[in-house]
Amino acid sequence: MISEKVVKAVNDQINMEYYSAFLYLGMSNEMDAKGYRGYGKWLFLQYKEEMEHAEKFIGFLQTRGAEPVLSTINAPGKVPSVPLDVAKAAYEHEMKVSASIDKIYELANKEGDHASASFLKWFIDEQVEEEENTRNIIDMFGAAGKDVNALFAIDHHLGKREDE
Ligand code: MG
Repeated sequence: MISEKVVKAVNDQINMEYYSAFLYLGMSNEMDAKGYRGYGKWLFLQYKEEMEHAEKFIGFLQTRGAEPVLSTINAPGKVPSVPLDVAKAAYEHEMKVSASIDKIYELANKEGDHASASFLKWFIDEQVEEEENTRNIIDMFGAAGKDVNALFAIDHHLGKREDE
């Protein structure tokens, strides 16, 4: 039986994943508008991945006979217009997501809800990847500095990301 506290926490996480999607879509639009079409595409694919995360949590609740509750998604607000700052903002956001998933995992364990804890392990591993990916992008744009050729070479590289 899934604990009510875990259901509540997962529903909050569903909202956070949709917010993440919205945030990445906002970043994608901004980078695209600034001529960084490659990074814009990378961020758009990340938006789609965040939608899948939300759907995965929804599916999990349904599988366990609990009801997903959808709530208002906040607007992403003003997105930085420089790629390095976008990458830094993305990293900060991913750290928050990791902390949130860790908290749900701890709660599931405390509640003796092993099935939820086991399900959450996939997300714990996923967050390690998300943090590494965003950190790599910070390093690349950071190293490029104001070198326009380097910036656009990185942009081109990021645009090669494939839809998974
Ligand atoms: Mg996510």
